[in-house]
Amino acid sequence: MDLFHDNPMFPAVRQMLGAFAKNMIRPIATKHDQEESMPWDLMKFAQGFGLTQTQVLDGRKQLTGQADESESDPSKPKTQARLGVVGAEELAYGCAGICLAIGGSGLAGSPVARMGTDEQKAEFRKALSGRDSNGHIKVAAMALSEPATGSDISGLTTTATRDGNYWVLRGSKQWITNGQSASVYVVWAQTDPAAGRAGVRGFIVTRETPGLVPGRKEVKLGIRASETAQVHFEDCRVHQAMMLGVATAGGLSDTKKMLDSTRPAVGAQAVGIARAALEFVVDRVRSGSLHGTPMAAHQHLAFELAELEMEVAASRLMVHRAAWMADHHQDNVAFASMAKAHAARTAQMVTTRAMVLLGEEALLPGHPVEKWYRDAKIYDIFEGTGQIQRRIIAKHLTGVIAT
Ligand SMILES: Cc1cc2nc3c(=O)[nH]c(=O)nc-3n(C[C@H](O)[C@H](O)[C@H](O)COP(=O)(O)OP(=O)(O)OC[C@H]3O[C@@H](n4cnc5c(N)ncnc54)[C@H](O)[C@@H]3O)c2cc1C
Repeated sequence: MDLFHDNPMFPAVRQMLGAFAKNMIRPIATKHDQEESMPWDLMKFAQGFGLTQTQVLDGRKQLTGQADESESDPSKPKTQARLGVVGAEELAYGCAGICLAIGGSGLAGSPVARMGTDEQKAEFRKALSGRDSNGHIKVAAMALSEPATGSDISGLTTTATRDGNYWVLRGSKQWITNGQSASVYVVWAQTDPAAGRAGVRGFIVTRETPGLVPGRKEVKLGIRASETAQVHFEDCRVHQAMMLGVATAGGLSDTKKMLDSTRPAVGAQAVGIARAALEFVVDRVRSGSLHGTPMAAHQHLAFELAELEMEVAASRLMVHRAAWMADHHQDNVAFASMAKAHAARTAQMVTTRAMVLLGEEALLPGHPVEKWYRDAKIYDIFEGTGQIQRRIIAKHLTGVIAT
């Protein structure tokens, strides 16, 4: 069930990516989860059919072969956010870690698309073309979080100090998706500590820039096919031309808008995990028996499945609504937070209930439900924790930032 069935483009993308998830992602999901490795060959294959690392910049064109009407007429609705949520649900249904490996560069592409000049967009695209030194497709990273600063992005300690036509970056970033392997980074730093939040700016920094030092890769509970690492900046000199937000005069406020724009797709990934786990349990209940009678005839199991189905459907509708609002140029800040927080809760609830319903078998390493259970947790942490989403929703209701 979804809101977008009236436009044939969305079901077509769903069908294509759904088949890709089922036939190509699922079969390798356990291996990459257990090895904590990025699926480079699959990422290359995905790039071949349009899931490129600059997709956010290139919008609909890459996936559908057609330009968005809104590119020539900004009053027309876009399709990018809706394509994003339809695609993200399918890929995460296959494996959320692999979904992030394929799409993680979009996190860096988003601020470049939103705030970048034509020159900056060209530089970003150039940095992602061709192969890296390992022969892999090139990926990007968005480096905002720090060891002591996650939610409170106004407290960044990474500094950018002006030196002629250059900015000198100093500091460390943590929990950065593609942090070790990226060929290009969007790095957020404080340019003027006295200005507080208004002093924060983003910079496009290519990997070979002296002073950019990829750090330790983290060992994680879930989404283990997606790399998460530290990145250090040791007197790293970046040309003024690579500072984002100059044309839009935006600093942190634009960063926040950027996070709002990616939340529906993150919520859609959580829906994909929930759907995968629910489908597994439904199959079991349909085919299994309990105390000599079909499982499906036991009311406590039937009602449990009905509850979970309601939550998955509600989350999907909220995610779709948030994407629809973005494509129709409506302020979706509070709705994007609601959709992301609801979907994160649903993914955790469905996977937890699936573990309980299956019993011991789901505790075994390599069991798909055990993996989805671990993968679900992160959706309550990144792209704004559950508490941060609730702050945004409550502020929308009362006008007051609760402390
Ligand atoms: C797998 C993974 C990938 C990631 N990828 C990236 C990436 O690519 N780029 C990047 O920049 N970051 C990335 N992050 C970092 C992520 O965005 C942060 O972990 C997240 O923002 C939370 O920050 P924190 O961990 O510092 O927690 P904190 O902000 O320290 O929060 C700790 C706890 O306090 C709560 N809390 C904080 N502030 C408030 C408040 N005002 N009111 C109520 N409760 C509050 C939080 O909800 C949380 O429960 C990633 C993280 C993970 C785990």
